[in-house]
Amino acid sequence: MAQHILEHLDRRLLAWLAEQGEPGFRARQIRHWLFDRRAESFDEMNELPKKLREALARDYVIWSGEVERVRQAEDGTEKLLLRLEDGERIECVLLRDGDRRSICISTQVGCAMGCVFCASGLDGVKRNLRRGEILEQMLRLQQRLPPRERISHIVVMGMGEPLANLDNLLAALAEATSREGLRISARRITISTVGLPAAIDRLAALGIPYHLAVSLHAPDNALRSRLVPVNRKIGMEAILAAADRYFHRTGRKLTFEYVLLRGINDTPNHARKLAALLRGRTALLNVIPYNPVAGLPYQTPDERTQRRFEYILRREGINVYFRERKGDAIDAACGQLRRISEASHDQQGAG
Ligand code: SAH
Repeated sequence: MAQHILEHLDRRLLAWLAEQGEPGFRARQIRHWLFDRRAESFDEMNELPKKLREALARDYVIWSGEVERVRQAEDGTEKLLLRLEDGERIECVLLRDGDRRSICISTQVGCAMGCVFCASGLDGVKRNLRRGEILEQMLRLQQRLPPRERISHIVVMGMGEPLANLDNLLAALAEATSREGLRISARRITISTVGLPAAIDRLAALGIPYHLAVSLHAPDNALRSRLVPVNRKIGMEAILAAADRYFHRTGRKLTFEYVLLRGINDTPNHARKLAALLRGRTALLNVIPYNPVAGLPYQTPDERTQRRFEYILRREGINVYFRERKGDAIDAACGQLRRISEASHDQQGAG
């Protein structure tokens, strides 16, 4: 059976080339066609001898999945629903903002963390994505850009918990940052995590300046354990300590994320406690007004409540940023498109 080439861009491709009696530099040419020329087929790779192109097409595929659906919002956001080899579905998103071309990618089918307000984890986790499947999302999204535009930023904030699939994620990100890959600076890559201390330490030990975002969502353990069930076993103290170590090791300013849920974590008291928790840390607080999920009881706080929350944090000296919601009309929040698709199989088809 044909192999997925995005899974084999390491020594395995070199070994395969040697078997074909081809020199090693062919690997660099193949990469150039995949990453820079955005080839969709081996046949396009016209620097390669015809025989090699034919052998590639016999033994490899470029895409392991298919684009099942494309949704575009007026603000330029595009969301792809990818159908994987085994029929599972994942989502990834392209966001256009001024000169920025950011992509948001998934790391797992489903999620095991169980955050009560999130669409991705409603049915638990099915499996980790392979490195090639993570990389494929980047290349599929790059295909949506005109030839002269490049992906500038990556946020690992799609479906799944990135630090629960760290090996495959790191392998894919190595291609994203590589000079022979997408050449995106690690500083422009954000890994968002629910907060798994051992994995944060592993990431810190690499010394690569990825930007770390920790999803907090509550100012104390009692509330956080209700919203983010894995917190019961871990606790915020351990997460904050690991985040601080990450900061000291990499020098990268931390981001904490806080999904604002009406009547649950949005009062002045929550804002003050949160400010006390974050004071003294070199960090940005990223507040995300809740993006409602069909079938879940959570709601977005009204504008006044949002402004009050923001005002208190600013007054307390916290560096706070209210995230603008993008792509609402296409359900760009994690896991939402997949669920809609699974509920309405008759409405599928790219368009
Ligand atoms: N597992 C990682 C990545 C998940 S998605 C993590 O927990 O960080 C990135 C962010 O979106 C997380 O902070 C997550 O809690 C948040 N999120 C999930 N569902 C949301 C929704 N419906 N509206 C707004 N933010 C949401």
